[in-house]
Amino acid sequence: MLKKLELVGFKSFPEKTTFELSDGITAVVGPNGCGKSNISDAIRWVLGEHRTKPLRGEKMEDFIFSGTQNKKAMNMAEVTLTLDNSQGHLGLDYDEVTIKRKYYRSGDSEYFLNKTPCRLKDIQETFMDTGLGKDTYSIISQGEIDKILSASPYERRYLFEEASGILKHKTRKQEALKR
Ligand code: ATP
Ligand code: MG
Repeated sequence: MLKKLELVGFKSFPEKTTFELSDGITAVVGPNGCGKSNISDAIRWVLGEHRTKPLRGEKMEDFIFSGTQNKKAMNMAEVTLTLDNSQGHLGLDYDEVTIKRKYYRSGDSEYFLNKTPCRLKDIQETFMDTGLGKDTYSIISQGEIDKILSASPYERRYLFEEASGILKHKTRKQEALKR
């Protein structure tokens, strides 16, 4: 369960913006272009999405606040997500797990798992098979329902593998075979 999302310099959010998510359903409403989809992009980004297209960007820099008429562009985008892990779903021995991702205009990236620097891979592995991974059904963007319906059997199988929790083992096996 998501508890808190903090954005600094991510897309249309220059100032630190905090979303506290309580139990139940949270809906985000607002006029076109106000930044609703940017919020779900931020969640996917911090969960380890490394491709730019699914997050509606051409290059990583597109995720850094690019400035407006009266506000200067920023040099860094930062997203922090706090998750409830009291049920231990993430396989980590903490009641609360925080992940953070930073990207600098210079091209440098930083990732943190509970405030400790880590690799992108560590974040991706933490969420693989939890239903929250970057490629899963937990975030369905505009147009994706159609994609699932018209997916090939192979692509659809991927979703089932993730849902049933075997994707992690399959990925590890593939990596072991590569060596
Ligand atoms: P809709 O209701 O049409 O789906 P939305 O609320 O989902 O709209 P978003 O797509 O989240 O809106 O936000 C689009 C806005 O974000 C645009 O105004 C765009 O200029 C702004 N934006 C995107 N990337 C950046 C960036 N790097 N810097 C500044 N603003 C950005
Ligand atoms: Mg939108």
